[in-house]
Parts: sequence; C-alpha cells; structure tokens
Amino acid sequence: MEKIYDVAVIGLGIAGCCAAKKLENSGCNFIVFETFNFPRKKLCGGGLTEKSLNLLTSLFPDVEKCVKVKSNRVYFVNENSILETSKKVPFIFLTDRKVLDYTIFSSLKSPNIHTGEKVLSIEKEKNLYIIKTDRDKYRVYSIIGSDGVNSLVSRFCGFKIKKGITYEIDIEGNTGNSVVVDFTNLKHGYYWIFPKGDYYTTGFGIFSKYKLRNPYELNRKYNLKFKLNRKEISKGGAFVPVFNGKLFPGKERILLAGDAANLVDPFTGEGIYFAALSGIKAAELLLNSKTPLTDYEKFLNKNFLSDFRWSNFLRHLFFAFKKPFFKGMEKSEALLKIATDIISGNVCYKEAFKRFVIKSTLLPARFLNVTGVNKAGKREKSKGFSSLDI
Ligand SMILES: Cc1cc2nc3c(=O)[nH]c(=O)nc-3n(C[C@H](O)[C@H](O)[C@H](O)COP(=O)(O)OP(=O)(O)OC[C@H]3O[C@@H](n4cnc5c(N)ncnc54)[C@H](O)[C@@H]3O)c2cc1C
Repeated sequence: MEKIYDVAVIGLGIAGCCAAKKLENSGCNFIVFETFNFPRKKLCGGGLTEKSLNLLTSLFPDVEKCVKVKSNRVYFVNENSILETSKKVPFIFLTDRKVLDYTIFSSLKSPNIHTGEKVLSIEKEKNLYIIKTDRDKYRVYSIIGSDGVNSLVSRFCGFKIKKGITYEIDIEGNTGNSVVVDFTNLKHGYYWIFPKGDYYTTGFGIFSKYKLRNPYELNRKYNLKFKLNRKEISKGGAFVPVFNGKLFPGKERILLAGDAANLVDPFTGEGIYFAALSGIKAAELLLNSKTPLTDYEKFLNKNFLSDFRWSNFLRHLFFAFKKPFFKGMEKSEALLKIATDIISGNVCYKEAFKRFVIKSTLLPARFLNVTGVNKAGKREKSKGFSSLDI
C-alpha cells in the first residue's frame, strides 16, 4: 500500500519552491515532483522588480546574493526614438535564473523532494488524487500545480492557457547596468537587453497570436541593431502565458500557482513576483483554510484580476497608439515616469491609467517629432543606438 501525503507540489520553479518552503516550515506531510535535476536552465530574463526581490529574500535570504546587476536606468526605444529614464536608486535587479532557481531549491531540506521525476498523469479516486510519475505512483489529498506554462495540472483542472512566443540569446560581454526595452516593429511585445555583468540576456516576447518562421534571426537582428555581435553563449525559445481576462485558481483540492494559474503581467511579462506570491498563498490556504479553493480564488481576484485586466487594456491601447505614446513620453517627463513606474512594478495599472489621462490632457495637441535622447526634458540630437550606455 502506497504512503498517502497531505499535499503534492508539482513543479519546482519559483512558485513550487515558495510553496514547498511554506509547507516545510509548517511540518506538513508533503511530497514534491520536478522533471529536472538542479541546477537546470530556465529560459527567463531573470529581471526582478523591487517587490519581487523583497518577497523572495523574505523566504530565501540568499537570493540577495544572486543579483548580478542593479539597474537604475532604462532606455525605451521605438524605431529611431530613444527615451532614457533613470532613478537615483536601482529599480530592476538582474539575476541568472539558473543560479536563482538553484539557490532557492538548495534551501529546501525536506526528504520528500523528488527531482528528476516527471508527473505523467493525475486521476481522482474517491477523496484522493493518484499521481503517476515516470518512476512510481503516489496518493495525495491535495495538489499545488506549479508546473509552468505547459501545465499538466492546469489541463487536468479543465483550463487552457493561451500562449505567447518568446526567444532569448545570451551574449558574452562586459555590461553596463542599463536595461533596454525596444518596441520597434513588434505588435503586442518587445525586445529586451538585460545586463548581467559578464553577459547580456537579449530576447523578445510577443503576447498575442503570432506566426514566426525564424525567431532566432529576429532576435539576432535586434542584437545587431544595438551592436551586440559577440559570441552567443546560449539560445532558445519558450512560451509565456497570455492573459485572456481570466485567472485559473484550480479545482476541488487542487490549487494552481504561477504560470500554471495564468499569472503573468500581460503588459510587462513579469511573472516571478506573481509565481512567488501565489505559491506562498496556495500553501498557506491548503494548510489553514477550511475552503482553500474559494479563499484562493478570492485572493487571486482581489489582488491580481482587476489589475491584470487594466494591464491588458493599457497594452492594447499602447500598441494601437504606439507612436503618439512615444511622442507623449518625449514631451512629458510625467508620462515617461508612468512608464518607468510600470516597468518597475511600482504602480497599479488603474492608477497608471488615471495618471496617464490627466497628464495627457496637459500636452499640446500636436506633438513634435521624436529625434533624440530625452534627458530631463532637454532634447539632444540623437547619437544613435551605439551611444547607449549598455
Ligand atoms: C523568455 C522569458 C523571459 C522572462 N523574463 C522574465 C523576467 O525578466 N522577470 C519576470 O518576473 N518574469 C519573467 N518571465 C516570466 C517568468 O519566467 C515566469 O512567469 C515564472 O518563471 C513562472 O514561474 P513558475 O514557478 O510558475 O514556473 P516555472 O519556473 O516554469 O517552473 C515550472 C517547473 O515545473 C516543472 N514541471 C513542468 N511539468 C512538470 C511535470 N509534469 N512533472 C514535474 N515537474 C514539471 C518544470 O520543469 C519547471 O521546473 C519570463 C518568461 C520567459 C519565457
């Protein structure tokens, strides 16, 4: 007769590790499955906002040591327009996801952490779930589905995650500490350069249905635009959840967390913060609540749903009027500050929209053409992309 566990955590990314840490601290009888052995590569920009860094370090203090670069400057680019925004204190913290995930995984001490063991199916039998893996069969009362964008658990609950395309190339180089976000020619997406000290993570994400023959070539084209033509260290593509107006809490005694719950900001693509917070909350509710699914759904709706809907709305608005938006930001420091607050995860989208409407009405009806780098309202003649401090 197989042993019965109270909770199974399926998938050990950020969401799963946070959930497992909470369960571990409670002394609960739980088991964890992860397909890969650590350290494992996870395709991700590894950019942490301040709230994300604070949340992760509250559970895993060593995460502080994973920050390779602290950035206080972002260049927003569209076609030949370059807008520079900076703050006195850093607001984006760049990590290597392989190291970050290995660091948080290494802090888990439970003996029931099964890495290199893939979950193949889930079945319901009376009040238990039977989990079949590529090694064995297990019985559990509850499940936390933290198995990412291609989630088997989410499918078992009856949800279908809409997926966008991403691609990344890591490139050798001694980096500065500036982040680049380029919207040129991408509808509902952007290209990024994230500095990591001894290499750059470059990539792009498209948050809508898009057919792409050669994502590698597209990524390379953007890299060449910014003169990033050194040796490529790694490359690859992955999916990202695209919010379609709904979040996926789970069903019965199964709670979904992170990408499996569709929890990626539809505008910025930030997912780490939401994965961490949902993983923590899912574990807390399975431990303490008499109605975990109802309470979890309430938590997701209250904290994320409305803001994700605003984010989605703003994304559509932004991409429909990208040029006027850029011209607006060129003219108005206040509008550029809203964009900076959005990328640093510091503002709720409804608030951002309100501020945007108020500030836009203060602009003159006709915007000047954007030609150069904007610093504190002073227009400079553009020195081109090679002048950027990256
Ligand atoms: C290219 C790219 C760049 C990104 N950049 C950023 C960024 O800079 N900042 C940010 O905040 N977010 C970023 N995101 C989003 C972020 O990476 C995700 O939202 C976040 O990692 C989700 O964490 P998770 O724990 O839900 O899933 P994951 O980190 O994907 O973890 C899921 C885990 O489940 C395991 N698993 C899957 N199926 C099974 C199975 N059947 N059995 C056992 N284990 C299984 C997987 O191996 C994996 O380890 C990016 C995403 C992409 C694709």
